Order: sequence, then structure tokens, then C-alpha cells
Amino acid sequence: MMSDTRECIIGLEVHAQLMTRSKIFCGCEVASDAEPNTLTCPVCLGLPGALPVLNRRAVELTARLGLALGCRVNTRSVMARKHYAYPDLPKGYQITQYAQPLCEGGGLTITTSTGERRIGIARIHIEDDAGKSVHGENGSLIDLNRCGVPLAEIVTEPALRHPAEARAWLRELHLLLVRLGICDGNMELGSLRCDVNVSLRLRGESTLGPKTEIKNLNSFRNVERALEREIARQEGILKSGGCVVSETLLWDAAAGEVLPLRSKEGSHDYRYFPEPDLPPIVVEEMLLQRLVKEMPELPAACRNRLRSEYDLDKQAARLIADDAGLTVYFETLCAAGVEPTRALRWLRGEILHRLGGCEITTFGVSPTALAELLELEATERITTTSAVRILDWMLTEGGCAGDGLRALDLESIAAGAHLDELVQRTLADHPHKVERYRSGERRLFGFFMGCVMTASSGRANPTELRRLLAIHLD
Ligand SMILES: [Zn+2]
Repeated sequence: MMSDTRECIIGLEVHAQLMTRSKIFCGCEVASDAEPNTLTCPVCLGLPGALPVLNRRAVELTARLGLALGCRVNTRSVMARKHYAYPDLPKGYQITQYAQPLCEGGGLTITTSTGERRIGIARIHIEDDAGKSVHGENGSLIDLNRCGVPLAEIVTEPALRHPAEARAWLRELHLLLVRLGICDGNMELGSLRCDVNVSLRLRGESTLGPKTEIKNLNSFRNVERALEREIARQEGILKSGGCVVSETLLWDAAAGEVLPLRSKEGSHDYRYFPEPDLPPIVVEEMLLQRLVKEMPELPAACRNRLRSEYDLDKQAARLIADDAGLTVYFETLCAAGVEPTRALRWLRGEILHRLGGCEITTFGVSPTALAELLELEATERITTTSAVRILDWMLTEGGCAGDGLRALDLESIAAGAHLDELVQRTLADHPHKVERYRSGERRLFGFFMGCVMTASSGRANPTELRRLLAIHLD
């Protein structure tokens, strides 16, 4: 790991595929599951004479992201050509933004082990994606369906200082993109891809050292692992008196290694110039006002609200707030009169366990139906064990809590002769343990509780049981 004398400087460039129906400069459909080379036209193939027309929706989605991140959304921005030769780029250039991007400034706050840190954003611009090279046994094939798919590129300031921070930041951005309906966030399918750049310098220095860039990382974990590996590699070079060479690297996740891809280009290598076939993008004030009005509650604001309204701790607030469905479910439970701590305990335990990673919206018991069940538990008409059994009954039979209670005959045995009899019988079955309890081994109380609970099939009212046991034992 890093020595104390050096620090690392990390920046991220994130490509998010915008959720539009058609491509950014033509009417071709965007779909990841279509047959190769079926979703193309002269525009996205870059045939001579074909003219691009900008997709309004792509601008709107990117402006929405910019507003959510506190960026300045420029009323006028310009598309530019970025030239490079690549087999899956038929135009020979990418249409992107250079000197005048759509959004600038802003930032996103992450929580780290040392507290909260706001990581600044340098810029967000829109651009078109390239095609895909598919490498197989009989050589390489090219699928151009992805040519012209709209992307937003989000570039951070080089303000991240640790691989774990980079991972946390990307996670927070992912959450925001999905919550705002800007990107589906599927990293495995490449809807969200992350390039990281990193350099090391002696602490106290202010200039940046030569940096390397690792391309196309496709999971949060790989972002962190690749950075850790690359920092160790650079540190090794510097320690042995060498110099880090600016280059572009690939991450081999299986081997856990970074591999050289090519020497790093400077921006002059791309021969940028303003795109002559597209007018400047003009964002009108009316659009911005509408986007602000339509902005949903953002994850960070939701966490803070849940903490203050329901007195949740940080971890619980994150668990509930970071899942929009869970937020609605939790708040509906509370509105139906369930205590927040009880609602949280059930969600975190039995409910999430039964969901096994599925969305809460697929859960077979509605929050109002669950609230009825939890009311029975809260008023001690049933024990927690019985409530869990009724929950499973509701999931399979589809009835309400009251029906389950009757069907399973789980009304709690609160008092009276029956519970008293169970207590006496249990104590009679364990005379030695009773003796040990009476001679000071007080922890056996839990053992007797458990025995009677089992004997009552989990129906004994715990408060009443504790009272009766105390009477008979002491
Ligand atoms: Zn097309």
C-alpha cells in the first residue's frame, strides 16, 4: 500500500448511456439486444453527405444531470469533432464537445471513513458512442449498432485521493443517474463505463506528476482494484528511482493486472474542431425552469430527511433512501402507524431476506397489509415468531393478517391457566436446572423462556411468560 510520503491524485471520466429511444444524430433505434448491424443508417455509419440532427432528449437528460449535480448549464454550447482511427468508428471521428461543453462546475458529495467530501466536477458533455469490435475464433467482427448511441461524459476534478473514494463516488453517481432516469446504470452491459486516471506525488507538492489512464472499467469493484494495482505499480517505479510514463492502460480483471494499451494522446493528437454540420446547442431558460420543477428528491436529500423525520441512523437512512421503492414502502408503513424502529427491523430482517435481491415492488405483501400484521405484534396479540409465520402464510395464501391469524390459530397465549400450566410442566421437566437457577445461575432464565416458547409453538406472550416464570422460579 501507499507509503506516507506520497499521495495519489485520482480523476474519473464516466460515460453514461442516455436513455433515449433513438440515437443522438439520427432516428435509428437504440437497443442492446438487436441483431448486429441492423440498427444503422447513412448518418450513424458516417457515409458521405449524410447530415446529423441533434436529439433534443439527449440534451434534456444531460441538462437534468447537470442541474442535479449543481453544475452551470451553459445556454450555448458547441459540438466538436475528435479525430481518431479505430475499426469500429466508421466516420473516423467522434462528435463530442470540447471547448464549450453543456455543463461545467458542480460536484457530488461522498461519505468516507474520515467524513464527507465534495468532489468537484470539471465538466459534463454529450457525445456519440462508437461501434463494438467482437473478437472471436475466426477473427474480429464489427457491430455498428452502437454507433451514434448518445452518451454523457462526466469528468471529475482530480480531487479523489484513494481507490475507495473513487469507488464510493462512482456508486453515488450511479445512484443519481438511475434515480433521475438518465441512464439504466447497467455496468455489465456497458451502459455505464468508467475511465480512471491516477498519478502520484510527494505530499506537499502542488504540481501533478505524469498520469496513467485505465480504460473501460465495468464494475465498482474493478475501479477500486485497478486503482490499487496501478498505484502500487507506480509507487514501485518511483521507489526504484524510475519515472512513470504517461500511458493508457487496460485492466485485466481475471489476472488482476494493468496492461499497457498505447502511449497517452495529448488533446492536439485529436485535431479537434467545431462540428460544421451542427449549429450550437441553445438551452432555453424555460427548459431549465421545467427541469428544476420536475426534479425528484435526490438520494442525499432523502437520506437527510429520513434521518430527521424518522430518527434513523446513517446506515439505516442509506439503506432505505438509496432504493426508491423501499423509501415508499417504509414511509407507507410509518404513515399507517407502524413505529419507524419496528418498520426498519422488519424491512432489514424478514422482508429483505425474503426478497433475496429482488425489488420491493415485487413483494407479495403490500405495506398497508404488513402494517396490520405489525399492529398485532406491537399490541402483543401475537408474538414475533407468530408474526413471521403469518407473513409467510400471507405470501403463499394472499390473505390479510387477520385471516392468517385465524387460519393458523396463532392468537398469543397471554395469560390464564394454559400458559401457567405450560410453565409448571416445563419446570417439572427440568428439576436440576431449576435447582441450579435457584442457587444463583440466573442465566438459565433464558433457557426456561425458550422451552415454554417451544412448547407453546411460539404463541406465548413474552411479557406474560416472563412474569409467570419469575413467580414460579423465585
Ligand atoms: Zn442511424
